Amino acid sequence: MAGSNKLKPETCAAQALHFVDPTTGAIVPGIQPSTTFARDQDYRLIVPSHSYARDESPSFDAAEAVLQRLENAADAMLFSSGMAAAVAVFQSLAPGDHVVAPRVMYWGLRNWLTDFCGRWGLELELFDPGDPRALAGTIRQGRTRLVWIETPSNPTWDVIDIAAAAELAHAAGAMLAVDSTAATPVLTRPLELGADLVMHSATKYLNGHGDVVAGALATAQRDEFWERLCRQRHDGGAIPGSFEAWLLQRGMRTLFLRVRQASASALRIAQELEPHPALESVLYPGLESHPGHAIARRQMLGGYGGMLSLRIRGGREAALAVANRCRVFIRATSLGGVESLIEHRFSIEGPTSPVPPDLLRLSIGVEAVDDLLDDLRQALA
Ligand SMILES: *Cc1c(COP(=O)(O)O)cnc(C)c1O
Repeated sequence: MAGSNKLKPETCAAQALHFVDPTTGAIVPGIQPSTTFARDQDYRLIVPSHSYARDESPSFDAAEAVLQRLENAADAMLFSSGMAAAVAVFQSLAPGDHVVAPRVMYWGLRNWLTDFCGRWGLELELFDPGDPRALAGTIRQGRTRLVWIETPSNPTWDVIDIAAAAELAHAAGAMLAVDSTAATPVLTRPLELGADLVMHSATKYLNGHGDVVAGALATAQRDEFWERLCRQRHDGGAIPGSFEAWLLQRGMRTLFLRVRQASASALRIAQELEPHPALESVLYPGLESHPGHAIARRQMLGGYGGMLSLRIRGGREAALAVANRCRVFIRATSLGGVESLIEHRFSIEGPTSPVPPDLLRLSIGVEAVDDLLDDLRQALA
């Protein structure tokens, strides 16, 4: 692994940091299912870094090291899910802390936060991610401990300026954490823009094959808060299994190829469908019409991601009919896999959802883009 920092992130991902097993010569790590690790007669660990698998299984090493490199982080940690990673951050805060989060964000986390913060004594304040001044108005000098953002954010793909958010957070004495699931380290590196923590649902693009639930955090510094997060995972035990961690390191080898293909296809679909008469609007940060486009152009590297939403003329019934006519897109929740998915978010989230009932969320995969476009065109006709 020596010298790997000089290599491009694509190379580091493809080779899992030039992995070669020192005992077998294998170029793919093995799956280590052992839960405990032997000690010598003086009770010293034979291999010092591994003691018990709840927090230090060697099965996590490859995926954690690759993510640390891709995010340019001081350290990275796998969790059992994206939610477990996010929950660990909020559970590491103390009662009385003021936290700020966007009103439009991954709904599972928003639901959990509104329930949890009250009971935990955290003061939660939500801001409108589409309004560039809203965040500044929500942060409280000396009171806010954590600013949580998601960019681009589900399911409108609002873009938040990470560097500006980091400046605002730090000026008030707060940390900035970024849910970068939709952007991936291929397209955005929040820590380089001043964020303190990055969170991923590794279930999505990092693994990319719809067969692992996992999450991750990466940190700019091994500071006191990171130590607390490490203890939180060690004690709470929200870790993936060995096999899931192994699948994740395999999935991450093709991360750049998958994300770049999905981004290129999503941009083409967004551009070609934007004038379609059956559509109210196409929400995609790569379109000049998108309110976050200028920030996205500065902040995102070489693409705008594989996620877009369509607002269908005619409301909920029309949107459901479009989804039902699709033959290539699969109707399912989740995102970031190699297969394209279409989803009526309002049906999933229910009547309290802030998502417009005419919105269809698309996760673009790596299929031939012409097949995807043809499918959408016949469904919209
Ligand atoms: C899916 C998702 C999560 C939650 O991750 P899980 O792995 O399902 O727990 C969090 N944030 C975003 C943006 C997501 O898409």
